[in-house]
Amino acid sequence: MDKLKVLFAASECYPFAKSGGLGDVIGALPQAFPKDEVDARVILPKYDSIPWEYVKDFEYLTNFWIKVGDQNQYCGLFKYDFDGITYYFVDNEHYFKRPSLYGFYDDAERFIFFSRAVLESIPYIDFYPDILHANDWQTSLVPFFLKEQYAWHYTNTRTCYTIHNIKYQGLYGFDDVRHILNLDYFPAQMEYYNKVNFMKAAMYTADLVTTVSPTYAEEIKDPYYGEGLDGVARDIDWKLHGILNGIDESVYNPQTDKALYVNYTRSIKKKAENKKRLQEELGLPVKPDVPLISMITRLVDQKGVDLLLGVIHDILHMDVQLVVLGTGDSEYERRLSEVAAQYPDKMKALIEFNEALSHKIYAASDMFLVPSKFEPCGLTQMIALRYGTIPIVRETGGLKDSIHYFNPETGEGNGFTFKTYNAHDMLYTIQKAVNLYYDHKDEWRQLVNNAFESHYNWRSSAQTYLYWYKKITGRL
Ligand code: ADP
Repeated sequence: MDKLKVLFAASECYPFAKSGGLGDVIGALPQAFPKDEVDARVILPKYDSIPWEYVKDFEYLTNFWIKVGDQNQYCGLFKYDFDGITYYFVDNEHYFKRPSLYGFYDDAERFIFFSRAVLESIPYIDFYPDILHANDWQTSLVPFFLKEQYAWHYTNTRTCYTIHNIKYQGLYGFDDVRHILNLDYFPAQMEYYNKVNFMKAAMYTADLVTTVSPTYAEEIKDPYYGEGLDGVARDIDWKLHGILNGIDESVYNPQTDKALYVNYTRSIKKKAENKKRLQEELGLPVKPDVPLISMITRLVDQKGVDLLLGVIHDILHMDVQLVVLGTGDSEYERRLSEVAAQYPDKMKALIEFNEALSHKIYAASDMFLVPSKFEPCGLTQMIALRYGTIPIVRETGGLKDSIHYFNPETGEGNGFTFKTYNAHDMLYTIQKAVNLYYDHKDEWRQLVNNAFESHYNWRSSAQTYLYWYKKITGRL
């Protein structure tokens, strides 16, 4: 049988453009399919921020025009083969020559353009996909447009839509976007309290809808997690599946990671050398025996920054060090910096997005805190495990699916978890971890070994995607 042709449409893809987990997923999943069975390619916006080391080798393919409202917009198309995968880039400087990926007044228009460009590019790249796989709100109009406006062009193409985070839905006033959607009616699949909801449109029109962990697929059917789309999630239950993300174990590999001070395999001693060097670099007292707790995250409500701030003084009254690397809400940035200034010998708040530093912190830390209010999958806890750093997480979404409470009696488990979104439950759990670290060194060593042995890579996730792809294309 011919190879299954899969085209991923996304607004982020590591190493070209990344603001969070979506970038990691699109960077890794296409690589993880068995090459003899799947030809997976990716189409992305050609952002201004894509590093020159890649752009310089992009091959120009063609250009054509796309209708957005009354305007004809230029659409250039580039191709780049990298690491065994073919990438396509949609070029339009008006939309994508911007200082960051998102956050502009015309984001709706930018991604309406991009979604249409994906569908219009297919004849030019001569790659008619069996599966068109869209992701998050930015590309949610791909399955919608395909069904509504391009169905007869792509009769053999099935669509998969992955919700990486249901919080960001693409919600706009119909009158604001009606024109640029080039729709002369108000489609029911999109209607949301008299507005249009891009994500809802994809949930109804895609042939398969996935979320990035099994627990999250269940959670979003509940009003607490569904962000107003729980009814839709219940409605499409029959085609909604949770597939746990993995991490790219070649990117996150303590043995080869160039960002680290010292590379290591499972050596706790060499890991400790990373801690020493980080303490030196950050100006923290060099204390090999004091547990270093870290957090690397967007500083937004979702990530449980409130819980941290609620008990941060209690945490810092323990004999620990705390490092937070993140950017986001300015209020969180300010409050964390203030606390760090109060405890210069115990805490650092690093308000920046810094990939290399993040790797150093994963390697140097003993414990890694992820107290999220909700977490569709979460990659940081998996990355932490890879570097032998013990996650302390709230039991939600992918955190619940990947981290299991360590039981010193049986020696099983790879971290610490707490159930309720409550600062004192978190504090209590951190205290348990700190106690084990100080008072039960053998058990701690066992726990670190278990972390090293927890492999959350893409191989098995890719197999599950492939299973569903085959199901919806009638290959099973
Ligand atoms: P989300 O996608 O919700 O932000 P994930 O846990 O899925 O959360 O992915 C976060 C990714 O972004 C991880 O690879 C993490 O290391 C990275 N990251 C987050 N904040 C920073 C930062 N300030 N500097 C470097 N990397 C960061």
